[in-house]
Amino acid sequence: MSFLVKNYNRKKIAFIKGKGSYLYTANGNKYLDFVQGIAVNCLGHSHPKLIKTIKDQSKKVWHVSNAFIIPEGERLAKKLVKKTFADYVMFQNSGAEATEAAIKVARRYFYSIGKPNKNRILCVKNSFHGRTIAAIFASGSKKMSEGFGPKVPGFDHFVFGDHKSLKKKITKNTAAIMVENIMGEGGIKVIPDFCLRELRKLCNKKKILLIADSVQDGVGRSGDFFAFEQSKIKPDIVPIAKGIGGGFPIGAVLMNRKVAAGMIPGTHGSTFGGNPLAMAVGNTVMDIVSSRKFLTNVKKLSKYFLSNLNLLKIKHPKVIKEIRGRGLLIGIQLFKDQTKFIKKLMDNKLLTIRAAENVIRILPPLNVKKSEINQALKIIDKVCASLK
Ligand SMILES: *Cc1c(COP(=O)(O)O)cnc(C)c1O
Repeated sequence: MSFLVKNYNRKKIAFIKGKGSYLYTANGNKYLDFVQGIAVNCLGHSHPKLIKTIKDQSKKVWHVSNAFIIPEGERLAKKLVKKTFADYVMFQNSGAEATEAAIKVARRYFYSIGKPNKNRILCVKNSFHGRTIAAIFASGSKKMSEGFGPKVPGFDHFVFGDHKSLKKKITKNTAAIMVENIMGEGGIKVIPDFCLRELRKLCNKKKILLIADSVQDGVGRSGDFFAFEQSKIKPDIVPIAKGIGGGFPIGAVLMNRKVAAGMIPGTHGSTFGGNPLAMAVGNTVMDIVSSRKFLTNVKKLSKYFLSNLNLLKIKHPKVIKEIRGRGLLIGIQLFKDQTKFIKKLMDNKLLTIRAAENVIRILPPLNVKKSEINQALKIIDKVCASLK
């Protein structure tokens, strides 16, 4: 009997230990974990440097509150600013908090320049920005917001890829366009680079802000530190979370100088956000993941994985419809519902997770070994063959 609320559809399995790309059950079964806490454990399980960081910091200080200077957070913010478009960083604890804080930053900017009516956020229909009350209405998903009315106002939606509807939906009250660079929950749908560039141009022309939700595709997951880097654009506001803590809950909002100016003392806060323990871990993750060598290797692994998955698509044309993704944010789209496929992968000791549009999401750690990718490919091939 479980006393946990039944809001999750959990697999009937528990793990007692993790090491690198693998998870272990109590009876010694070993699973190749290509979920990694949903793109969170970017360095796999039990990374020795993260263990050392937690151990060392836990003996110093865990939490002091944002009433005081937190040197570990100052250091992490500096690293994020040095590596990215951002001039300033605001720390949170999760993705939804980061996206909501991003919305606050956008609205507060227009408020601070005397345009308080410019407050509407234009989002992609059926996107994913988190599960808090505003975020579910920002996502524009009927399924996620059903029963949680009244509807939070201030959000408009356009259909992914429908440029005409996007332009039509921008009004004088629009403050920002918020998109995921790669729609993770939505089925690993990548916004092409030229679209991101047009989006940036459009925002400039309309004098509105661009929020690039990088909670899932950020922090090296795409092969670049940020997925939008390849298009050479600079968003105004970027919420991040998942990868930056390597398994420890951290969220953050990165932003440029212009919008940061609106966030004066008292405009936002978080009790836990940016605590020393989290920040110590974030610094270690950042030191490893932001290095050029590390990211080059992610790109190399990605190329290998994607090209071999495409070969499997050719080999099993009735099973696999499309291979999607960038970096190590990968989707296998099936012709049919993916539930059975995911179960079969798990029976063969490979853990994956679903996304919309019949997609199986594959999220190895960013330091995955080539031999582990080969192991996964073999299992995927075997399950494809068994479904014919
Ligand atoms: C996971 C995710 C969120 C929400 O993050 P939580 O930590 O679950 O609140 C927001 N945006 C995107 C793009 C995500 O993938």
